[in-house]
Amino acid sequence: MQFSSLNLATPILQVLEKSGYQTPTPIQQQAIPVVLQRRDVLACAQTGTGKTASFALPLIQFLMDRPAGKPDGPQALILAPTRELAIQIGENIGVYASLTCVKHTVVFGGVSINNQIDALRKRPEILVATPGRLLDLLGQRALSLQDIRYLVLDEADRMLDMGFIRDIRKIIDLIPKERQTLLFSATMPKDIEELSRTILRNPERIAV
Ligand code: AMP
Repeated sequence: MQFSSLNLATPILQVLEKSGYQTPTPIQQQAIPVVLQRRDVLACAQTGTGKTASFALPLIQFLMDRPAGKPDGPQALILAPTRELAIQIGENIGVYASLTCVKHTVVFGGVSINNQIDALRKRPEILVATPGRLLDLLGQRALSLQDIRYLVLDEADRMLDMGFIRDIRKIIDLIPKERQTLLFSATMPKDIEELSRTILRNPERIAV
């Protein structure tokens, strides 16, 4: 299978070619068409499988041609357990969106919050965040989640292991119910199944 058969837009296909990606990985082959159909996804996939592109490419595609008068707040939120993963996702999105107008920013704890507040003022469409810092920013009214239409939980099992479940639920309570939700997890323990039952709508299950 080729990326060109996945219904991705030209600026995205051009970046993939420039990056030397020849064929989509199994998770990309399975997830990209489902995400493009605007279905919720429950995916079992480890790091290194190409899972980032499997959610990032369709989201960039959704956000790249929007009508004028776009909302103020971010429209896609990607939650990740650690700053390292958040940074890595942000770097990938920077590459994948490089031929589009889609902007992103990454927020995580352990560093000054002020630069992150400034970055949010530039109205990025995509926000990559660790849960604790996102709640701090929300507490400071540095952003609103009212415009979120796409929510991704990456490495969800790790976020639960790190004790983020209450933070995650608080965050999801602030996001409109009318949204597309994608949950990625390396393992599928009971608490992930339980979380997915309450936040996903009729998800397509994908395992690689
Ligand atoms: P991930 O699992 O998303 O962390 O991706 C693992 C690594 O594989 C990253 O460095 C990606 O840039 C790279 N990658 C993702 N998809 C592909 C692909 N289809 N072909 C080649 N490399 C890829």
